[in-house]
Amino acid sequence: MKEVIRKYREFAKRINPDIKVIKGFEWCCYSDTAEIEVPQIVGDNSIAAFMSTIEKQLAKSGNQALIDKYDNFIWCFMHEMGHLCKPKKYKDKLVRNAIDRISLLGFSSIARFLYYRLKEERTATQWACDYVINNQKLVAKYNWEIVRRYKKYYKNMNLTIDN
Ligand SMILES: [Zn+2]
Repeated sequence: MKEVIRKYREFAKRINPDIKVIKGFEWCCYSDTAEIEVPQIVGDNSIAAFMSTIEKQLAKSGNQALIDKYDNFIWCFMHEMGHLCKPKKYKDKLVRNAIDRISLLGFSSIARFLYYRLKEERTATQWACDYVINNQKLVAKYNWEIVRRYKKYYKNMNLTIDN
């Protein structure tokens, strides 16, 4: 997992040198310390509602095909980057410790759907999609490098990953 986190850190630095990446249990970010928490296990299906908001946002500019070009964890990561990088006028009014709860395990699908319609969630997703659309080569490079490291990590733990 060390290697996975190392790659996320390298990727984050390319986007914004102030952002730090920490290992944890769910996708979230901390606006007071500019940290993104990356979960140790990714690939569960609780992020379907999140992925549908990405798809809708991409479709606005005719870029919906991009959704399959990158793994779900890249979209999650970019969304968290969005919380920390979006323009000041869209910055979240409340500084909460964890402003995000993408895993949302145990939440109903309706609750998740409503959650991603919150303005702070929509603006983070919008930032993520705009960034990916404008930096496809960079994102593809890190997608490939990070997925390789996840696979190695899972293999060493005798786990398998679907994608
Ligand atoms: Zn969020």
